[in-house]
Amino acid sequence: MPVYQVPVRDMQFLMHDVLKLQNHSSLPGFGDATPDVIDAILNEAARFHEEVIAPLNRVGDLEGCTRHEDGSVTTPTGFKEAYQQFCENGLGALAHDPDYGGQGLPAILALAIGEMTSSANQSFGMYPGLSAGAWRAIHAAASEEQKQIYLPKMSDGSWTGTMNLTEPQCGTDLGLIRSKAVPQADGSYKISGQKIWISSGEHDLAENIIHLVLARIEGAPEGIKGISLFIVPKFLVNEDGSLGARNGVSCGGLEEKMGIHGNATCVLNYDEATGFLVGEENKGMRAMFIMMNEARLGVGMQGYAAAEAAYQNALAFAKDRLQSRAISGAKFPDLPADPIIVHPDVRRMLMDSKAFIEGARALTYWASLQEDLSHKAPDEETRQKADDYMGLLTPVIKAYQTDKGSKACNDAMQVLGGSGFCEEWGLSQYVRDVRISMIYEGTNGIQALDLVGRKLMRNGGRAVQSWFAELDQWIKDHEGVDGLGDYAKGLAGVKAKLMEATQWLGANAMANPDNAGAVSHDYLHLFGLTAHAWMWGMMAKEALAHKGDGDPFYDAKLKTGRYFLDRILPEADSHLAKVKAGSEAMMALEADAF
Ligand SMILES: Cc1cc2nc3c(=O)[nH]c(=O)nc-3n(C[C@H](O)[C@H](O)[C@H](O)COP(=O)(O)OP(=O)(O)OC[C@H]3O[C@@H](n4cnc5c(N)ncnc54)[C@H](O)[C@@H]3O)c2cc1C
Repeated sequence: MPVYQVPVRDMQFLMHDVLKLQNHSSLPGFGDATPDVIDAILNEAARFHEEVIAPLNRVGDLEGCTRHEDGSVTTPTGFKEAYQQFCENGLGALAHDPDYGGQGLPAILALAIGEMTSSANQSFGMYPGLSAGAWRAIHAAASEEQKQIYLPKMSDGSWTGTMNLTEPQCGTDLGLIRSKAVPQADGSYKISGQKIWISSGEHDLAENIIHLVLARIEGAPEGIKGISLFIVPKFLVNEDGSLGARNGVSCGGLEEKMGIHGNATCVLNYDEATGFLVGEENKGMRAMFIMMNEARLGVGMQGYAAAEAAYQNALAFAKDRLQSRAISGAKFPDLPADPIIVHPDVRRMLMDSKAFIEGARALTYWASLQEDLSHKAPDEETRQKADDYMGLLTPVIKAYQTDKGSKACNDAMQVLGGSGFCEEWGLSQYVRDVRISMIYEGTNGIQALDLVGRKLMRNGGRAVQSWFAELDQWIKDHEGVDGLGDYAKGLAGVKAKLMEATQWLGANAMANPDNAGAVSHDYLHLFGLTAHAWMWGMMAKEALAHKGDGDPFYDAKLKTGRYFLDRILPEADSHLAKVKAGSEAMMALEADAF
């Protein structure tokens, strides 16, 4: 049985020491999140995830979901009871607005719970995960009346939510959406069409499912400018809030997938289903982007969360498995061979993963704090800066951290050798489950294009310039500090390369747009490395401050930080070289000649 222990200590370190949430206590909801309250929530949630959610991971993989003849879907054994407990523990609405049934706590707490759920059982986590995204889109874009009808029930978990973008002919290019909406005399719409690959689209966990659906109102403009967003509940809701008639949406099939078997990935058929417009006609993408941005942060979290679980299992195996002697001489001469953790190549894989996971957790938590600042900070300047940072770094977090998270799961499998390839050990499931994170919520290739094509130049490059200035300030403040000079130097080096790559893009992308497309993946990875280097600087600073405590946690943090500087940061050179190579060699071969 695979193991998973919630890394509560690392979460506390980030919240209390690195991000210092207590310094933000004047923000709404932050005053209630005292260190004691945070610790109590983390510890209680950790126990629940280790004891209840994690043991269902393999059950979900083996059983999958079942669709019945009437179109209903049952989730794997134990999911329903676990979901009920999850809701009773209030874990789905920690950061939701208290006006609509939430607890109003900092978003970072909800993120930490999401991480636990995702590490313990990615398929299970996608039910409350999608719901939280739908909740936010309704909260941000729907009318007050709609919010009152749907949000409290979604907060307490008795209703869940989904997002319905994809259709058979339309994945990345949402301008191709065909689902149509016909206005009715009472102000509602009749929605018809087929959506595919809808996560958590039909299931037995909740009384009702609130589908957010993109469709085209009859006569709307072609392409992306003619798309509107609708709420389509599985059961219509009566005026008194009780459930009414079954709506015209049904599950036409479940996908057979490589992983996340415990999550119901549905074909949803809309047959003149009653839908309610959210926001303005033809402005559906704006509202959906709210959901997608925060969902993308959640997917970036899935990348390192899966890596954490896989890494923990690889580590346990590496300490236990005896093979060969250390090349520098036997380390455990009384045993028939040394445990494989003595071998540098095994350590390479473990340390690569450890350094990635800890940097990724820090960056994602930092971004989550920006999310709160962007909504809750009292002054416009802070709100705008935080919003800029979120926009800039969301594609980086999504793509960099799922690319690397997937690699870390593969490395964890490699640490187990043949056992990693055999299902019994559970590593195969992590590799299979995490793989989707590179694809959904916009493929990683599209995230890279979003970064170079939209986010960099938005508002005249305001976000990236402000972020670069922030890094410069950190370098200036810490280059002379004992123990932090190497971090400042490392950050300065990678940031200089990122700036060079940015200038190269500025000079070469307009004249030949293929240059932007060809280098975007490496540019995004260079961006991710730079952001992680900054995080490692911040973490090292706090670890150094505690160096005298004799606590092995801080010693390990500094040794992992050193590994990041020496063994991961040099990847920046390769990314810069590939950026500067441009598109010529990539586009030279004619399609017919492949
Ligand atoms: C398990 C699962 C769950 C999902 N859950 C949901 C859900 O809940 N709701 C929902 O609406 N959708 C969902 N999806 C759909 C998912 O978001 C899409 O699969 C994804 O957006 C990519 O679309 P596509 O598969 O059609 O690929 P395509 O758009 O056909 O792309 C194929 C390849 O071409 C690349 N490509 C396409 N256009 C460009 C371009 N302009 N430049 C460069 N490269 C390009 C892509 O990066 C990709 O590598 C899910 C999919 C799966 C498999």
